[in-house]
Amino acid sequence: MELTNEEIRRYSRHLILPEVGLAGQKRIKAASVLCIGAGGLGSPIAMYLAAAGIGKIGIVDFDTVDYSNLQRQILHTDADVGRSKAESAKETIHGINPNCEVVIHNTRISSENALDLIRPYDIVVDGTDNFPTRYLTNDACVILKKPNVYGSIFRFEGQASVFAPHLGGPCYRCLYPEPPPPGMVPSCAEGGVLGVLPGIIGCIQATEILKLAIGRGSSLVGRLLLFNALDMKFRELKLRRDPQCPVCGEHPTIKELIDYEMFCGIAPESQPAANPDEVTVQEMKKALDDPSLGIKVVDVREAFEYEIARVEGVPLLPMSELRSRFTELDPNTQYYLLCKVGARSHSAMEFLREQGFKYVKNVKDGINAWSEEIDRNVPRY
Ligand SMILES: [Zn+2]
Repeated sequence: MELTNEEIRRYSRHLILPEVGLAGQKRIKAASVLCIGAGGLGSPIAMYLAAAGIGKIGIVDFDTVDYSNLQRQILHTDADVGRSKAESAKETIHGINPNCEVVIHNTRISSENALDLIRPYDIVVDGTDNFPTRYLTNDACVILKKPNVYGSIFRFEGQASVFAPHLGGPCYRCLYPEPPPPGMVPSCAEGGVLGVLPGIIGCIQATEILKLAIGRGSSLVGRLLLFNALDMKFRELKLRRDPQCPVCGEHPTIKELIDYEMFCGIAPESQPAANPDEVTVQEMKKALDDPSLGIKVVDVREAFEYEIARVEGVPLLPMSELRSRFTELDPNTQYYLLCKVGARSHSAMEFLREQGFKYVKNVKDGINAWSEEIDRNVPRY
């Protein structure tokens, strides 16, 4: 890896830093970084990395530029509204430094493509704005042993760290083993964000990437940096690797990528639970997976149907026996009622409510939806 005369002139302020020098600048040129998201965080990250001479930057973003992005996403200009963010990002980066190779991935990162997207790069930077993508990025980076340069922002506060179990530090799951319940933590779209905040956090991430590339300084591995813009204060927490961590611990249970929408309790967009009396099969699965929620699932189909198809761990109380046997249930417990397609369980729900059961809900589309969306081993009949 040699530098051209044009590059020597371009990077002269780096070259005269003893900590960088010619050797460090060559390492920066040799480095490749995958930037997940070309939004608020991705903007300063990609622009500073390009300016600093990172040889190859991958941009993953499937979104298009919206007017509401321009308040903070400085990769994109007014003229870019409506264009692909990845395309717009590539143009801006090339405007800053034509030496930088930009690979655009105009796609949504998913469990299916994440490993292939990440594998060719040295360093991954998390510029995502949602929990499923954040856990996906974390797990993929742990599996592939890539440093994951993390940042997140909300309203006036931000945080940053470098997750790299292979370098001795913890991963995102060591810090946050479980996602917050869906709807508990509002997104920037719902809660707002100060426009300059992603600039500050993104610049911290870009700094960490350059330090990783040249192998100098003490990184944020094992440390969580917290920033409050209103108070203009930085704080720091020491992070430890959790030996019980399901992905980077001593006995990992997650060895391949999972369904992150489901892990975060988010039902697929096409199947919203519109009715407050209804829950989706995804919510039913969450109830079964986590007994601490205190929700019980009861199957109200008939015994012969139960023989054809049943969900492991769900007891049977047939509709035909409900009137004589409902006293076996506790009126203060939360129940999700399951039938074949959601009609009988709806009647059962109404009956139980008349008997004073306050917390009964109906599983939308019944065991057939379970078979379609959760477990195809359960026969659909
Ligand atoms: Zn971990």
